[in-house]
Amino acid sequence: MRVTILGSGTNLHPTRAAAGYLIQTDRPILLDFGPRTLSNLLKTDVDRHTIQYLLFTHYHADHFSDFLTFFFDAICHSKFSSVRPDLTIYGPPGTKRLFRMMFRTFPNFADTPFRVILKEVKDQSFQIGETRVMPLPMTHTDQQVCLGYRVEHQGRSAAFSGDAMASPNLVSLCRDVDVAILDCSFSSHAPGGSHMHAEECGKVAKKAKAKKLVLSHFYETADRSNVVAQARRFFPGPIVKGKDLLALQVGSKVPT
Ligand SMILES: [Zn+2]
Ligand SMILES: [Zn+2]
Repeated sequence: MRVTILGSGTNLHPTRAAAGYLIQTDRPILLDFGPRTLSNLLKTDVDRHTIQYLLFTHYHADHFSDFLTFFFDAICHSKFSSVRPDLTIYGPPGTKRLFRMMFRTFPNFADTPFRVILKEVKDQSFQIGETRVMPLPMTHTDQQVCLGYRVEHQGRSAAFSGDAMASPNLVSLCRDVDVAILDCSFSSHAPGGSHMHAEECGKVAKKAKAKKLVLSHFYETADRSNVVAQARRFFPGPIVKGKDLLALQVGSKVPT
């Protein structure tokens, strides 16, 4: 399994795209689609028209807005070049209502030349090819369900917190995982609501016995302090500060 960080920042970070990850197992899977992550996807070796599976943690715009460009491009490509394969979109409760409203409202979104399948998930595991995906509700804001996802393939695992505060669910999502990619919106010197700061990320990774911790989803304030050192006060294992287009190899290489 290989995980490429398409976006390690938030909404309007000056140097980082917002939330988004490319997961490559037996097939490519996108997790979240925040602003500027589509541009980073174009810099990878994955043809965007081959992507058939999208996972959304929640629908704050910093995790979602590039979907609109991606989808319009997919429609144009299918009409004027060649029809792309089906697209399956997984997300928390509310996903069907949101996408159906969008498909009805945006010009050209209603009649796609390819099939779009919407699936609402919450805490039941499901299979994408040989890849096992386990969603679990996180603690973020009261207005919506925000999911974390654990992805397993050929005995290797990666956990994505999405936007999350520390919680027992987050610890179980990351239990013994090879790589835990956690919401480190804030420095421990300037914590904020609805997200974790670096020390909390370290504590969660330690409690869960994660093998590696990747910090991501930085606000500018987090970038200005040493978040790795803060997380290290609690987590003894390897810690990586996420950056856009950083590729993390989790276990054996994807056959090419
Ligand atoms: Zn959010
Ligand atoms: Zn966010």
